[in-house]
Amino acid sequence: MKKPTVVTCPQCGKEVVWNSDSPFRPFCGERCKMIDLGQWASEGYRIPLDESGADQEPPPPSQA
Ligand SMILES: [Zn+2]
Repeated sequence: MKKPTVVTCPQCGKEVVWNSDSPFRPFCGERCKMIDLGQWASEGYRIPLDESGADQEPPPPSQA
């Protein structure tokens, strides 16, 4: 019997089996993947991942 490869989710530390059942590996799920991508894409910029209606983002203050 083959031992499955298990990694830990970089975001929450949960164990993730590395196979086709885990499409979001090395993350445990889409949520952790999106959190990580969000941090990547905009360092230091907060993204309201938990709130629905994320479209209502206020425009950035324009500096003339
Ligand atoms: Zn996770």
